[in-house]
Amino acid sequence: MKGTGIEAIRGDITAWGGDAIVNAANSGLFGGGGVDGAIHRAGGPAIAEECAEIRRRQGGCLPGEAVRTGPGRLGVRHLIHTVGPIWKGGSAGERDILARCYRSSLKLAAELGARSVAFPNISTGIYGFPKDEACGIALRTVADYLAAAAEETRPEEIVFICFEADNLALYEEQMEHFKQSG
Ligand code: ADP
Repeated sequence: MKGTGIEAIRGDITAWGGDAIVNAANSGLFGGGGVDGAIHRAGGPAIAEECAEIRRRQGGCLPGEAVRTGPGRLGVRHLIHTVGPIWKGGSAGERDILARCYRSSLKLAAELGARSVAFPNISTGIYGFPKDEACGIALRTVADYLAAAAEETRPEEIVFICFEADNLALYEEQMEHFKQSG
């Protein structure tokens, strides 16, 4: 059985070249600050136009769900917009919603035939999710998804692109832990 390569790197997700980039969007798909703003700036206005179409069709995207647009000028084939939870202290279902973001994005990526997928650290910026916990949820959810996925739909490569050094340190530390505990 061929395994999926999982890695964490430091960088700007807009510079990544693979099949699909995941965007940490807002539920109106309006583009905003952080990684969302960077993706819209780098990808150009075609992305916002497609987001407006999705808004007209279905009102946007609910937290935990994912929708696809074209990548505009980005060097990938698909842009997957998922909406992370806004951290409200942890008792508003934030952890479940964050896990659903990773699952919905991977499911959509599989439907699109994407073999490589890059994630930002969803919700850990403006939305205020504690970074260490968000990292654990991301790694666990991706590992569980891969364990349950049919081999033909499993991507070859998943990359966590950390913009901040502290996030990369958390991923490196927690991935090591994962390897040790199998
Ligand atoms: P959210 O609203 O989901 O918290 P943010 O964009 O504010 O979204 O932050 C999510 C994560 O994306 C943060 O860790 C932030 O540092 C990171 N980030 C910001 N710009 C980029 C970028 N160009 N590439 C990758 N990650 C980025």
